[in-house]
Amino acid sequence: MRLILLGPPGAGKGTQATRLMQKYNIPQLSTGDMLRAAVAAATEIGLKAKTVMEAGQLVSDEIVVGIIDARIHEPDAKNGFILDGFPRTVAQAEALDHMLARYDLPLDAVIELGVDEKALITRMAKRVADTLAAGGTVRADDNPEAFKTRLDAYRAQTAPVSDYYRRRGQLKTIDGMAPIDEVAREIERVLVPA
Ligand code: ADP
Repeated sequence: MRLILLGPPGAGKGTQATRLMQKYNIPQLSTGDMLRAAVAAATEIGLKAKTVMEAGQLVSDEIVVGIIDARIHEPDAKNGFILDGFPRTVAQAEALDHMLARYDLPLDAVIELGVDEKALITRMAKRVADTLAAGGTVRADDNPEAFKTRLDAYRAQTAPVSDYYRRRGQLKTIDGMAPIDEVAREIERVLVPA
């Protein structure tokens, strides 16, 4: 099973990806997580990405395409994968298409979680408050200013990715404002049509 999850920051892609990962025994490949790991390990990529990420802007297509190209060949991805946070630009979507064609790994579905932007800002604020209340630490880009930049980047650069897959008849849009279990059921329906 090879899937893409699309949706703005805070739409719940991570939550759904975790469930799908368990269900299909395939890894969730989150470019955000991989980049944060690179930043934490202060690798060459991490050093390049750090400031850009903290401001809520996008890292270069070249970097993330390279990361994904390497990652999909790891043994744990042999049964498939869930792409979360990638592709985020049309150029990344095109690069992914070429890559998957070259390796003969067709996509099974592209699932978009549709959400209302106002609700996202509230969700993000709540997520941050809950994490802090529990004594946790929040991401460097989980502050209102960077979050707004992330939403702007989404609107300008990632929303066209949905159109890209829609035109190719591959996009399935699901209501991401529904309760978590319901979103999960809808995703299942899309993946395994009755
Ligand atoms: P969210 O979707 O919640 O904003 P992510 O964890 O997916 O967060 O990404 C965090 C940051 O990592 C992004 O704001 C961006 O700087 C960088 N990033 C992640 N994936 C990509 C990508 N595919 N292309 C460019 N930058 C990316």
